[in-house]
Amino acid sequence: MAYKPRTESEELMILRLLDTRMTLSEKDIQHYYRLKKGYEGEVMFDSLTEKLQCECYILNDLLFKVNNTMFQIDTLIIVSDTVHFYEVKNYDGDYLYEIDTDTLYKRPKKEYTNPLHQLNRSESLLRQLLQNIGYNFPIEAQVVFINPMFTLYQAPLERPFIFPTQVKSYLEKLDKVPSKLNRNCKTLADKLISLHIDKNPYTTFPLYEYKGQRKGLICELCNSFSIYVHGKKCVCGDCGHEELVSTAVLRNVREYMLLFPNQKITTNDIYDWCGGVVDSKKRISRILDRHFKIVGIGQWAYYE
Ligand SMILES: [Zn+2]
Repeated sequence: MAYKPRTESEELMILRLLDTRMTLSEKDIQHYYRLKKGYEGEVMFDSLTEKLQCECYILNDLLFKVNNTMFQIDTLIIVSDTVHFYEVKNYDGDYLYEIDTDTLYKRPKKEYTNPLHQLNRSESLLRQLLQNIGYNFPIEAQVVFINPMFTLYQAPLERPFIFPTQVKSYLEKLDKVPSKLNRNCKTLADKLISLHIDKNPYTTFPLYEYKGQRKGLICELCNSFSIYVHGKKCVCGDCGHEELVSTAVLRNVREYMLLFPNQKITTNDIYDWCGGVVDSKKRISRILDRHFKIVGIGQWAYYE
């Protein structure tokens, strides 16, 4: 299991919610799809690194600041006194590599950012970071192309690329490297986790307000708004998924809190947010009572 597991970023969660409840601009949708696809690729890679049996520390999804510069690492593995790190790319389709200019194109001719540039930058920053905290581990940096539908024409041999057909054998080889973790490795892993920045301060979100959001309960499986209440359960009219009313309401409260962190939680607001699908405010307030602390009384009461 990963020593530091990966979770969906707040940015991705918020964009997904906004995409369901409002119409995003074309630019924001593209950004959202890019993030989502990237995340899916990273999760795909995680499902393979999880199988490593060797003694190692796997740290997923790290964000650091060194000498006033921020950089992000998709996957970092400490094994046998070496820090391996990976830039995971979920590209699919046919790409072409121009060696003379180190440029990557999606065929026929759309230029892409060469992940190698990002990798080199991160490697240099990670080296500075390790030096700053007094560790002198060798670093091995690689780009992992995880999507089985990815092809790179004219792929240069000497670049640190791991292709979809090589990921498994690469990890098998890594697994066989004799590795004994010492205290030093653990303190490094802990130190890196403590330096990780949870929220990227440079993240910007599309402008949105409460008014512009479609109200209603959302199915957790298919994102549909066609939810009706049947006894203790919410049933999705599209996919048939059932969920306890209380669970569904709490999930939607958490989403509300994520989108509007400065808003107080009141029964009326949550009733409105759920679009009247749960047709009694009493029922909403019973659910909130059980899971939150009530502050104040009567019409001024809110939940924390
Ligand atoms: Zn559904």
